[in-house]
Amino acid sequence: MKKLLLIAGFLLASLSGFAQDIYLQCGKVLDVTSGKYLQEQTLIISGNQIASIKKGYLTPQDASIRVIDLKEMTVLPGLIDFHVHIEGETSPSAYLEKFTLSEADIAFRAQEIASRTLQAGFTSVRDLGGTGVNIALRDAINRGLVTGPRIFTAGKAIGTTGGHADPTNGYRPDLAGDPGPEEGVINGVADARKAVRQRYKNGADCIKITATGGVLSMAQNSQNPQFTLEEIKEICKVASDYGYHVAAHAHGDEGMQRAVLGGVKTIEHGTLMSEETMDLMVEHDAYLVPTITAGKDVSMNAEKPGYFPPRIAEKALEIGPKIQNTFTKAYKKGVGIAFGTDAGVFTHGENAREFVYMVEAGMPELEAIQSATLTNAMILKKEKELGQIKEGFLADIIAVNGDPLKDIAVLGAVQFVMKDGEVVKKR
Ligand SMILES: [Zn+2]
Repeated sequence: MKKLLLIAGFLLASLSGFAQDIYLQCGKVLDVTSGKYLQEQTLIISGNQIASIKKGYLTPQDASIRVIDLKEMTVLPGLIDFHVHIEGETSPSAYLEKFTLSEADIAFRAQEIASRTLQAGFTSVRDLGGTGVNIALRDAINRGLVTGPRIFTAGKAIGTTGGHADPTNGYRPDLAGDPGPEEGVINGVADARKAVRQRYKNGADCIKITATGGVLSMAQNSQNPQFTLEEIKEICKVASDYGYHVAAHAHGDEGMQRAVLGGVKTIEHGTLMSEETMDLMVEHDAYLVPTITAGKDVSMNAEKPGYFPPRIAEKALEIGPKIQNTFTKAYKKGVGIAFGTDAGVFTHGENAREFVYMVEAGMPELEAIQSATLTNAMILKKEKELGQIKEGFLADIIAVNGDPLKDIAVLGAVQFVMKDGEVVKKR
């Protein structure tokens, strides 16, 4: 009996240990809404939530409760990157990988990438296209099997025959076959419906289309429109049945306009956006996801002999250098900005470089941080759980040395990361 009681006691203790509160003693907490710092605060984390926020440095009565000293640091909500490809990463051999990597190979690699992304302070990401491993990875992270950011994924991207997301571009004809909606290739409104419903069945969280040509596929052109307006409208209409928003990759202006008119919520890259399209975006409440970092790194890699196939190098040099300039114009025109980098096209974990380029391009530091917190949380319809340090919100919290409102580059050296109430990094 005594032994049993002891075991029961031990079990209870370890159980309560699991759900034990954590006190974070924070020197400065950024209120991302007002841009003001709250000095000397204690955040009491209970389970996966911010249970309460108290003025001053509180010490728990119960000595067994963990206290973490962030008194010398600036504390912010976890960052959200709206454009990553969690399954892969740029390399000169990336074009061969379709033939050399199994799903299991991709999965193990994706897990390492996910962990690296989280360590960099990105506690949530929107993944805009891969093989479907992205969906399994999201689930594994949510179940606590592996560590990584919370993932909102599009599953496989949707394109049209020969378009940017046609997975068989550049193949010899007998290998290319004729992929359809399941693989992400649609032609006509019936296919458009089917492709969205297939992604719903597979467990996607949102939809990604490639509204124009792109740089890193073997497709012929980086700019031409690749969907009809009717196809895009159908995709957006069916997507909304499932509560999905639609993201559209777009470099060329005509495809971008059709995407905005068709109901797309975010335009990715936006490279050759005209002023008319900028006005349309404001009018339709569509957001630009800048991906300046990707633009910089594809142009840099295109200069290295043999890094990309010649067709891609040529497209990269044409498109890459223009992205930052477009961002400046769109921002000044009042287009809403949703922070996103296209990590995978450059090295994962360097996502915070985007902040530096945004500020360099004319956006104030606070607004850049808001785009990676408030704005992205709102588009995900998670604005009551994510993107702020507030009572009742999920405990996704990071800390940095220095003042990101004066020197945005400090976000590139995150010292502390908590996701869902769990400490995942502490320097
Ligand atoms: Zn992308």
